[in-house]
Amino acid sequence: MGKTYKIACIPGDGIGIEVIAASIKVLAVLQPLFDFKFEYTDLPWSSEYYRKNGRYMPPLPEALATLRKHDAIFFGAVGDPDIPDHISLWELLLPIRQGLQLGSNVRPSKIFKGVKPPLAGCEVGDLDWLILRENCEGEYCGQGGRSHTGTPYALGTELAVFTRFGIERHMRYAFELARQRPRKLLTLVTKSNAMRHGMVLWDETFYDVAKDYPDVKWDKMLVDAVTIRMVLKPKSMDVILCTNLHGDILSDLAAALSGSIGIAPSANVDPERKAPGLFEPVHGAAFDIMGKGIANPIATFWSAAEMLRWLGEAKAADGLMSAIEHVLEHGPITGDLGGKANTEQVTQAVISALKQ
Ligand code: ATP
Ligand code: MG
Repeated sequence: MGKTYKIACIPGDGIGIEVIAASIKVLAVLQPLFDFKFEYTDLPWSSEYYRKNGRYMPPLPEALATLRKHDAIFFGAVGDPDIPDHISLWELLLPIRQGLQLGSNVRPSKIFKGVKPPLAGCEVGDLDWLILRENCEGEYCGQGGRSHTGTPYALGTELAVFTRFGIERHMRYAFELARQRPRKLLTLVTKSNAMRHGMVLWDETFYDVAKDYPDVKWDKMLVDAVTIRMVLKPKSMDVILCTNLHGDILSDLAAALSGSIGIAPSANVDPERKAPGLFEPVHGAAFDIMGKGIANPIATFWSAAEMLRWLGEAKAADGLMSAIEHVLEHGPITGDLGGKANTEQVTQAVISALKQ
């Protein structure tokens, strides 16, 4: 008998709802094939919930206690055209990431067969990265303030906070993951020439941690220079280790370079595994295409595969990834990848590939 996992499911808003529904169909087929079981708790935390209750989820201690009863969290997206983005972000996703101390955000990107990347001459195998975005600190710590609002002297501060504890656990995880990859390369990204405090702490911590991983080959680059390298020499990189803000930006670039944000997955994890991991597509609620049934569900399928791998169901994860790769290569594919298929057609194609 296979294992049963408790999954907290937060579809959220917009295309988040559509791609989670598609994934549940795929996972329903996957479970008997690979002998595991998912028991879902549906959590309606969303903009709809906010309109009714004046908040995105129950009070934080209660919300976190609910989530902690699960093995993993499967998340779609939140955001609403009528609610400022910072509200949904600060009422739901960031308090969960920070409250559960999901200190590392793992964002793989890769050029798959059948996907036409935007860069001329860039082919399958030329881009295969793991972006390791620190997930609780930096500019996202929530510290700062405003004064003189509405006057010509209006000012705002946004404090970036970095702790040795947060940096080190994230870096160790990055080295552990780099070690498991065939090329074992790691690039540290900072901006320590201009940022003289937190970024220098990153560098110092890195040199200390790197000593424990002599088998991993590393280099170090400033964030501005690394964008050039990502475009001109994608093959020269493997694991890209960066701060919260830098990782946010670089992973969107990575998603675009690998074909579309519609295929980019992410895993938010506590490197020490003291909390359930949260798995979600990199993209957001995408108001422009919501309700049309044309969202690419692959980013969420791939996130589900990452969730399975993290839970220890490697065979199921590999099976799902093979089905995804088959569909990307042979079609049908959605509009963001240059195809004409809708979400349901891609979902059914992945299901057929699984059954083969
Ligand atoms: P957020 O504010 O959380 O970043 P967003 O609403 O800005 O979310 P994104 O998800 O960042 O939207 O996506 C930007 C654009 O990329 C969308 O407006 C949409 O056109 C496209 N896009 C995003 N995800 C998908 C997808 N799964 N399938 C197809 N197109 C997508
Ligand atoms: Mg966006």
